[in-house]
Amino acid sequence: MTATKQGERSFSPEALKEKYRLEREKRLRPDGNKQYLPLKGVFADFDKDPYVEPGFTRPAVVETLDVLIVGGGFGGMLSAARLRQAGVESFRIVEKGGDFGGTWYWNRYPGAACDVESYIYLPLLEETGYMPTEKYAKAPEIFAHCQRLGRHFDLYKAALFQTLVQSMDWDEAARRWNVTTDRGDRLAARFVVIAGGILHKAKLPGIPGIESFQGHCFHTSRWDYGYTGGSPTSPMTRLADKRVGIIGTGATAVQAIPGLGASAQHLYVFQRTPSSVGVRANQPTDEAWVKSLQPGWQQERIRNFSAIVSGRPMDIDRVRDGWTYIFDDVATQQAQTPEETARLRQLADFRKMEEIRARVEGIVSDPATAEALKPYYNPLCKRPCFHDEYLVTFNRPNVQLVDTDGKGVERITPTGVVVKGQEYPVDCLVYASGFEVSGDYTRMLGFDIRGRGGTSLRDSWADGPATLHGMHSRGFPNLMMFTTTQSGWAINFVHILDEQSQHAAYIISRCLKSGVEVCEASGQAQQQWWQVILGRLQQGIAFGGAECTPGYYNNEGINPGPSAMRYATFGGDTLGFIDVLRTWRQADDLAGLELT
Ligand code: NDP
Repeated sequence: MTATKQGERSFSPEALKEKYRLEREKRLRPDGNKQYLPLKGVFADFDKDPYVEPGFTRPAVVETLDVLIVGGGFGGMLSAARLRQAGVESFRIVEKGGDFGGTWYWNRYPGAACDVESYIYLPLLEETGYMPTEKYAKAPEIFAHCQRLGRHFDLYKAALFQTLVQSMDWDEAARRWNVTTDRGDRLAARFVVIAGGILHKAKLPGIPGIESFQGHCFHTSRWDYGYTGGSPTSPMTRLADKRVGIIGTGATAVQAIPGLGASAQHLYVFQRTPSSVGVRANQPTDEAWVKSLQPGWQQERIRNFSAIVSGRPMDIDRVRDGWTYIFDDVATQQAQTPEETARLRQLADFRKMEEIRARVEGIVSDPATAEALKPYYNPLCKRPCFHDEYLVTFNRPNVQLVDTDGKGVERITPTGVVVKGQEYPVDCLVYASGFEVSGDYTRMLGFDIRGRGGTSLRDSWADGPATLHGMHSRGFPNLMMFTTTQSGWAINFVHILDEQSQHAAYIISRCLKSGVEVCEASGQAQQQWWQVILGRLQQGIAFGGAECTPGYYNNEGINPGPSAMRYATFGGDTLGFIDVLRTWRQADDLAGLELT
């Protein structure tokens, strides 16, 4: 059987389904997430901050305050901004890095840019009066916007940079959280917001021999410009006589490889699974369009995008890019039954991925390289990429794709990388191997939290998390966590972070104004919320990707057990989750929270 629309290549859905299955099976491995190594022990140096001067010291801070925010990325900054807007002034922000920015502080690799439109991704544009210079702003501009937010909302005076939380204990008598840090700070906070990020702990591939490599190496989130030369915006001149290898071809590598290919004497790209790479079509911001905008435009545009990528039919597509194109299928939206929707959705997905594969053929001149760069899975199995210089980089004479046919790199030696028995000698090895996504929240945080009666969050969640809205957990009063666990998920993740920030700021300011000292989720509210998540799980909404090729989106293809299942998200209906929070706030009764 073939399925085509006018002007498309024909394809057989059955043959593609089988091909996808085979490609998935090739990659499944029993060790799942355990195949990766944390940046600890002999790998601890990979985690060092290359962007600060060594030897920073400051006096310890001992303070009693209303709110402690953990994390100075978008989640933490938005929380602080929303708290200020709600009239809360007594807060501190503890941040590991040397400045605000979170992911945009750490990720300075060449070519880094936002992969969602800047006009909806960069928060608080109208509030700060800033307009990004391009449809997809580059990392330095986004980092500068983080600093702008810091100045605009006067957050620098509240920040404790280069500081790690070490312990967090609920003090029943004082009704506060006692928090200590590695700088000797002792902070007693009525409320704590943890906005620690979801992809902030870099990981390395557990490839045999990785510790034996004698050349230079680093992870993409700690780019060593001291070695490579250049900067995020200028060529890496010191690579001109270097053989460079990069392991990984995910969203980060797709952005970094064009710059590496242009700078290195020779570049080997070690690939396990190709990314899908659609058209980017970046462009400078249109001044006439900017002049035409009416107040409120940014929130409207953000919601419009999230609605479309939540699969909701909209009359107008404001962003009109590769993301919204994935969801642009009228036939699917007109289906009458869930079965018909699923069938048409799959057909549309096959079509879109056929276009992606045809794009590879159209750009990459060597047929074997082109074949190896074609992704065989559904569009949302991995983060879809959009780039106009990535594929063409493989036409350069100094760039070589080393495809591992789904198996991954075989071995690392003191001098190179081995694939299918052949050693590729390199001077420098770049790990574009991604970030930890662990089912263990406290492991992600790097510290445990001791709530009522000294119970640790790790023990309390041993059989899986129990939460209200993914934010509160019984036994841990006045603590608000921003995670994806039983919480919202979004392609434009800053949209979720802003809503979580508004939610936390509303609860905190309301409690402070009305003299409420303790607020804690009731057991019943948590059970009811779990039923909501479970219902969505049972409809297959919240833990998608079982048929996908392995990756961090689907727990490396391993079926989650009952406790891991409780880490499920609300699913891809971003607006659905946001509307739950908004409706809850509108009722203004703090339902499900016990107040003292
Ligand atoms: P990923 O986890 O997406 O990619 C890791 C890569 O390493 C994969 O290609 C993986 O292959 C490969 N890999 C792992 N082990 C081996 C091995 N043993 N041998 C060979 N290859 C191996 O990490 P990224 O840093 O690329 O992206 C993480 C996330 O960060 C993205 O999904 C996105 O959400 C975000 N991001 C956002 C950007 C933005 O602009 N907003 C830009 C960049 C990233 P395999 O696929 O087979 O597992």
